[in-house]
Amino acid sequence: MSITVRAPSPSTPPVPQPRPITPVPGAAALAATYTRAPVPMVRGDGVTLTDAEGKRYLDLASGIAVNALGYNDVGVNAAIVAALESGLIHTSNLFRTEPGERLAAALVARSFADRVFFCNSGAEANEGAFKFARKWARTIGTPAKHEIISLRGAFHGRLFASVAATDRPAYRMPFRPLAGGITIAERDERELDAMLDAETVAAVIVEPIQGEGGVRVINPALLAFLRRVTAERQIALIFDEIQCGLGRTGHLFAYEGTGVVPDIVTLAKPLAGGLPMGAILLTEAVATALEPGEHGTTFGGGPLVASVALHVFERLADPALLRHVRDTGAWLEGALRAMMGRSAKVRAVRGAGFMWGVDVVDPAAQVVARAREAGVLILSAGDHTLRLLPPLVMSKVELGTALEVIERVL
Ligand SMILES: *Cc1c(COP(=O)(O)O)cnc(C)c1O
Repeated sequence: MSITVRAPSPSTPPVPQPRPITPVPGAAALAATYTRAPVPMVRGDGVTLTDAEGKRYLDLASGIAVNALGYNDVGVNAAIVAALESGLIHTSNLFRTEPGERLAAALVARSFADRVFFCNSGAEANEGAFKFARKWARTIGTPAKHEIISLRGAFHGRLFASVAATDRPAYRMPFRPLAGGITIAERDERELDAMLDAETVAAVIVEPIQGEGGVRVINPALLAFLRRVTAERQIALIFDEIQCGLGRTGHLFAYEGTGVVPDIVTLAKPLAGGLPMGAILLTEAVATALEPGEHGTTFGGGPLVASVALHVFERLADPALLRHVRDTGAWLEGALRAMMGRSAKVRAVRGAGFMWGVDVVDPAAQVVARAREAGVLILSAGDHTLRLLPPLVMSKVELGTALEVIERVL
């Protein structure tokens, strides 16, 4: 790659100097929507992060399930550099580009899906899935067939329709009115059976393992029930695999571990190795319900992100990596259960693969902060649940070291 910089000609007016960036105390120039840890992170390598003071952390948070391959991965870095060779970071969806078509073909080849729509985040993937489902439902029913049902404990994103499907009052209340026609149901067969009316319901959306809602594994019997009822009543079954998909459970797609095949799957977090990207996997019938112009996004599936995602997807689909997640995940479950047996501070352990929730007696935020002090990064999922989302490449030895620290700070 070579970059040519043209010298300004003598007649060129002086280039206005950029205003020096005003040093602001702390993060005062950022909107205060996050509670951030105090020390800035300046480096990542493998499964460790380094802060501005040079302190190193074992990272079991993975940028919230994004950095499945860890940091500074040679293959991901090379994929980014190789993608730049074409000079095409972006062309818009007015033109065909090869990387997006190859990525779509790879996703289709490895899944139930016939077609893929690319977007830029998880919430956007779910909002798009709702549009696909509603348009499809209208083509097979009347306009009354538009309701979307989500489940108690769900998290589907922060935009107006995805937050309407999200069961967190604090995320919803300040922003009402939310998108209409979206209802949260109990995770209960009888209630769902009554709510899933063929005439009015377009789709049900489910995280096979609820992430933000406390790492709750949805009972496979409930998923099988939902599949049977939605098929009978021509309701689209959407799996939100944004957090639990792409290898995290030890299966490439979480649905493969449930015995149920949905009609739509949404993906995002780890898909492009940390670059923003989302995807909606669709059956032919649902995909073709939308006509040109009915949905779109400027950036979705651009050549740079799609090239990197193709590399990441092939790495995550590697049977050796998936076996590592299943085997080491089974060991991790045993180690967490043993910890529960030893410690009165641990009340319950739930999860699969490299996605675990640990209910603790102390406030989860305090335990997360103490673990960070001790050099281990974990997440919370609710007030009393710790959440572990290690990079999928983390070894048993590294996980063991992290668990010792977590048990100590408990
Ligand atoms: C993170 C997440 C989302 C939202 O993704 P964003 O990229 O933050 O919009 C939706 N669903 C699930 C299950 C998630 O974990």
